[in-house]
Amino acid sequence: MPSVVQVRKFLTDSAFLRASSVIATPMVEEFRTTLGAAPIATIAGGRTLIGSLLLASHLKEGSVGIQFKGNGPLGRVYAETQSSGSARAYVSEPSVQLPLVENRWNVKDAIGQGLLEVFRGTPFQKSRQIGTVQIQSGEVAEDLVFYLRQSQQIPAIMNLSVEVGEFGEVVGAGGVFIELMPGHPESLISQLEKNLRSAPAISHLIEAGADAHQILEPYLKNLPHTELQPSFEIKYECRCSKERVLESMILFDHGTLDEMIEEEKPTDVQCEFCGQVYKLTTSELQEIRNRSYKNSLN
Ligand SMILES: [Zn+2]
Repeated sequence: MPSVVQVRKFLTDSAFLRASSVIATPMVEEFRTTLGAAPIATIAGGRTLIGSLLLASHLKEGSVGIQFKGNGPLGRVYAETQSSGSARAYVSEPSVQLPLVENRWNVKDAIGQGLLEVFRGTPFQKSRQIGTVQIQSGEVAEDLVFYLRQSQQIPAIMNLSVEVGEFGEVVGAGGVFIELMPGHPESLISQLEKNLRSAPAISHLIEAGADAHQILEPYLKNLPHTELQPSFEIKYECRCSKERVLESMILFDHGTLDEMIEEEKPTDVQCEFCGQVYKLTTSELQEIRNRSYKNSLN
């Protein structure tokens, strides 16, 4: 049974602030068990996954993909959410172990320095829009806020939390996301700053059993708001299929495909998100080889 989470959405009465929040503990746990991820990959991938849920919750339709391409030991950290209702995440090196620094998980060094890419797509656009910024902190939430400000000119607040237990299991995961609309008054900023200073850590609230509205509430103190319906329901689900796997192989170089074909036996190709294995016959590989060759001539 895939885990389903509910992203709840709110709008202040002034309409200058919209917010969303989610408790995503079962989903991040499902991501961890699917990949067999160690704690640092669970936290980095989990934060990225929650970030994609929250960004996607502000879209009418389409998808959001977030990719950290840092030089840290985790390699690529990727998560995507389709507004039609599914999300998935991936970390290149899920079993990496890193020592704690001052009793904290060192997500910053695990991701490293490099680029953050944010993909946005709608069902009617063939190609996705990509926004790229330098990774600022490697802590995920700060990087997404920086991206929103740089490429979309949107002032935002994001707080993402993934806590793991003694055995690496996810004991609490969630996040809040607040965006300010163009033309917002200064008084809104000062109230928000005041709220931020007194807001308790969301990890503590989640641990104490708070729901999605309760983790957002401290940020919206003295800012009258209403919940938007319906909430955004997302399940953890890989959308892979044999066709998609074949499709992605068109990008392989011809030498690699030739080698696979020369072996003349079925080849196993594994989905990197969910571990599903697809058996490809020599003739299927041949077809990919031909399509890939045709593409290279265009
Ligand atoms: Zn898959």
